[in-house]
Amino acid sequence: MDKAALAERYARVKAQLPPGVELVAVSKTRTVEEIKALYDLGQRAFGENYPQELRDKHPLLPSDIDWHFIGTLQTNKVKYVAPFAHLVHGVDSKRLLDELNKRAAATGRQLGVLLQVHIAQEETKHGFLPAELRELCSGGRFRQRWPNLVFRGLMGMATNTDDHGQVGREFGGLAALRAELAQNAALAEEPFTELSMGMSGDLPEALAAGSTMVRIGTAIFGERH
Ligand SMILES: *Cc1c(COP(=O)(O)O)cnc(C)c1O
Repeated sequence: MDKAALAERYARVKAQLPPGVELVAVSKTRTVEEIKALYDLGQRAFGENYPQELRDKHPLLPSDIDWHFIGTLQTNKVKYVAPFAHLVHGVDSKRLLDELNKRAAATGRQLGVLLQVHIAQEETKHGFLPAELRELCSGGRFRQRWPNLVFRGLMGMATNTDDHGQVGREFGGLAALRAELAQNAALAEEPFTELSMGMSGDLPEALAAGSTMVRIGTAIFGERH
């Protein structure tokens, strides 16, 4: 591992972020040594995609890391993540909310979640449709339905395309949806302020649309193997 190159890439990414935008360093497939090297440069928020990988890595790393789970989560894998995750980004079903709430309650903690919205023109990407979220909000207060979850905002992934205008519109739509839902009585007690959007390939568009949390892997660690 080239620590000088890592430090340089990390500094370059951080320099692009306005104050108040949180950087989640996406460490999926990276070794414990690579993560520790970035930790030593001051990074504390890391994001992982695979439940077992996160479960196996987190005991080997410093306990003051905030672990973000950013991948697709199946209900039978929630138990690997819910006991210690700082924030679960990709929540895309009511069933998953029920399971996350149950597991958080079992460990006596409040678990932060972001609702994932399907904003891309791609079948492979997950998430609620905006209409489904409006429907979810009609079922009563989230605080009462899922007392061990804290709804912190929305997450979305834009279409993987060179059309920057399209990417910007997709992120803009996510920002508008967050503002709309935050007014809903169902979310009145929630700190529904976060917009997790932006990766290495679409960072400028995400920041322009009002991202509060970016998930960056390649631009910090280099290409994944
Ligand atoms: C891998 C991944 C990222 C980071 O992607 P890079 O292009 O490496 O920055 C961000 N978000 C999610 C959900 C991912 O799976």
